[in-house]
Amino acid sequence: MFSLLAVNLTEASFSETPGPALVLVLLTLAGWLVLAPVIAEKQRRAIVLTALWVPFWTWGYALDRFREGDTPTRVGVVSIAAGLLIVAVVAGIALVKSRANLRPATRGLNVAAIAAVLLALLNAGNQMRAHRPETTAGPAAPAAAASEDAPDLYYFIFDAYTSADHLAAVFDHDNGPFLDELRKRGFFVAERSRSNYTTTLPSLASTLNMEYHSEQNMWWLYHEDEAAWKTHMQNGVLNSEVLRVLKQRGYEFVTFESVGIPSLEEKADRYIVPDKRTLTEFQRVFVKRTPLRHVAYALIDAKTPLWYFHSLDQLPELKTPGRPLFAFVHVLAPHAPHSFDENGRAVEDVPFREGYRGEVRYINKRILETVDAILRRNPNSIFVIQGDHGPWTEWSEDELRGKKRPELPVYLRDRLAILNAFYFPNGDYADLYPEISSVNTFRAVFDANFGMELPLLEDVSWTYEPEEDRILEVTEPL
Ligand SMILES: [Zn+2]
Repeated sequence: MFSLLAVNLTEASFSETPGPALVLVLLTLAGWLVLAPVIAEKQRRAIVLTALWVPFWTWGYALDRFREGDTPTRVGVVSIAAGLLIVAVVAGIALVKSRANLRPATRGLNVAAIAAVLLALLNAGNQMRAHRPETTAGPAAPAAAASEDAPDLYYFIFDAYTSADHLAAVFDHDNGPFLDELRKRGFFVAERSRSNYTTTLPSLASTLNMEYHSEQNMWWLYHEDEAAWKTHMQNGVLNSEVLRVLKQRGYEFVTFESVGIPSLEEKADRYIVPDKRTLTEFQRVFVKRTPLRHVAYALIDAKTPLWYFHSLDQLPELKTPGRPLFAFVHVLAPHAPHSFDENGRAVEDVPFREGYRGEVRYINKRILETVDAILRRNPNSIFVIQGDHGPWTEWSEDELRGKKRPELPVYLRDRLAILNAFYFPNGDYADLYPEISSVNTFRAVFDANFGMELPLLEDVSWTYEPEEDRILEVTEPL
């Protein structure tokens, strides 16, 4: 489990491990008691119990070999279970019947187990140190007098939310009615918008600093030293120009615990941690590897698969009277793995496109409700609602089956096309245009709403082409 944590560290933390660890200890105890009447001798019982961890940890992996689309087949489940059972029974009988002295073997296993845990912890610790981002000064007192009539600013990132064009072409979903609802409320929808980078951190770091990354920071670090590259990008999110400008103008910065981005706790005036009555992404990966997957979702997850929407529940109530608000909301959906359907009910193992489509439909409803609730309380509110990059469809589905990536235009759209919608209470959309890319987001917001005169940058996107190990520079609209 700790090695699972080590490889997932950028998105997981130690605080997510006590639950799974407790489950493992309880399972071991239960196994010990259940086997007691069958295998009296403790050494033999310990070895059988240890051997049972092999099917336990390989269960999810084996199951994933037997699937139609993304759904495990019944034949697969039954044949794997039967195979493992036969192996276990035969090995168990052989072990119980044999007369060998097992004391040295159990001692060896104990040493090996302790060494494995220590190594994994060490690895996790090292990774954590490498990834710890620097932060400069914490939340400062409002520098300038907060202007009473400054608009509140709500910045939403729905991770990997793509454009209507791509939703229609690849996901068989018409997003037109949703965009029309936004327009009816006065939004400007940039229908051919795209991100400048293909993954979360470089995209957000660029948007929040209103600048492109230097070529060195994009690629040299990525190739030479991924940890340093990541730290650099995280620092960009933590110490952003956008936050500096807003704090200087007296904005109160409120944000939420999220997954996949560095914690902004030290930067926030208020940092809101949800009541997680469900599994975190790390715990989902843990559960998915083991037979627990067949019970855990039903028991724990069914009621609230949606903890990352807690921010939307709270947004309309956040404002401190007399002080402008900047709320940053990052929601890890419709990013895979897909865990709820269009009605917000828990789902598991749905095909990628179906899962993505369901999450988009649910998100759309929640966006409209939230926007309406906020505008009812304070019409003087700015909204930016966008994706940070495309859905990566082919990576999730076809590439796993050995297919090559699709035609270049589809590939680029899949990596870069984003939802991008703006609401300015003064309706001044002179800076906005359908192709605007995310680097220009806050230049446009500040120009139109604060009277700043930040020039818009040329819209350029970059994507890495692994087959030829080269950078594709995208300047044409998608
Ligand atoms: Zn992302």
